[in-house]
Formats: sequence, structure tokens, C-alpha cells
Amino acid sequence: MRRWRWRANWSDEARPAAPDNLLAMNDPDCIFCKIIAGELPGQIVAQDERTVAFMDISPATRGHVLVVPRRHVKDLLEIEAEDLSAVALAAQRLAGRARDRLHADGVNLLNSCGRAAWQTVFHFHVHVIPRYEGDPLRLPWDPAPGSPEEIASAAAELRED
Ligand code: 5GP
Ligand code: ZN
Repeated sequence: MRRWRWRANWSDEARPAAPDNLLAMNDPDCIFCKIIAGELPGQIVAQDERTVAFMDISPATRGHVLVVPRRHVKDLLEIEAEDLSAVALAAQRLAGRARDRLHADGVNLLNSCGRAAWQTVFHFHVHVIPRYEGDPLRLPWDPAPGSPEEIASAAAELRED
């Protein structure tokens, strides 16, 4: 796969163009589309034909990055397989960079799908959150054994036919 190298001094002509079908589907009201298009400022750290990665404006920890598809899509349930794969691979590369360059001790990948799941920006994104021993982040739930009957009943509804 061809890797893009971002250069701030590229003229519009010299900058490699994303394929037309990837540019055509942006949402004029979406802040992430505007960052991708360069209409809003963003600290872009990586990009390829399908994805852009930029720094979160309110980082959970040092080096918190968002990886988004270039093509506007609302959430996990709507993103197409190739874009989802590309975002996952880009997130994996950023996780490695967090370890190697920021000396992170671990990394969380987080995606929120829907308001009930805390999604606030409705352009699909994966948070790449470097983790450091002793950092203040905590699990948002208290792990405790669930009722076996309730687990089994949910499993029955989720199980592939
Ligand atoms: P969500 O809550 O949808 O999972 O994540 C949205 C993320 O986008 C939040 O972590 C928030 O800090 C980040 N964010 C919101 N507005 C902006 C912005 O204008 N620029 C950047 N770089 N990040 C933003
Ligand atoms: Zn968008």
C-alpha cells in the first residue's frame, strides 16, 4: 500500500490526491471533515489514502490521537469494511509509535458508537490513548461477576444462527 508523507509546504497540485470517491462524501457540518480538509486547524500526525490521524484537542493522556476515515461516516455500524480495516491498521501503527516514541506502557483503543455510548462527534473515530503506569484513567465500570442466567440469556440472543 502506498504510504503518504504529509508535507506542510506541498502546493495543492503536488499534494497526493485522495481518490475521488473518498473525497466526495464529506459532510459540510462535520468538524472532523473540516480538519481533514484543512478548513479547521488540526495536529495531523499520520495519513494514508483512507485515514487521517490527529491529536485530540482534550487529551485523556499525553499523545491521545484520533484516527478517522477520510470518508464521512457516522459510526461503527455504518462504516464500510475497507475503511474500518484501514482505521484499525492506522490505530495499530499509532499504538506502536506511542510505545516507541512516547514510551507508553500500554495503549487503549476506544470507539464510542451512539450517544448512549458517549459518542459526541458523529464522524467515526478510534481513540488511541497511550497509557502510562500510574496514570489517572480508570475503568468506567466496576468489574463484578454477573448472573450466569442473565449472561446466558444475552448470549442466546447474540449467538449466530
Ligand atoms: P467521542 O466523544 O465522540 O468518542 O470523541 C470525540 C473526541 O473529539 C473527544 O475526545 C474530543 O476531545 C475530540 N474533539 C472534539 N472537538 C475537537 C476538535 O475540534 N479538534 C480535535 N482535534 N478534537 C476534537
Ligand atoms: Zn465528517
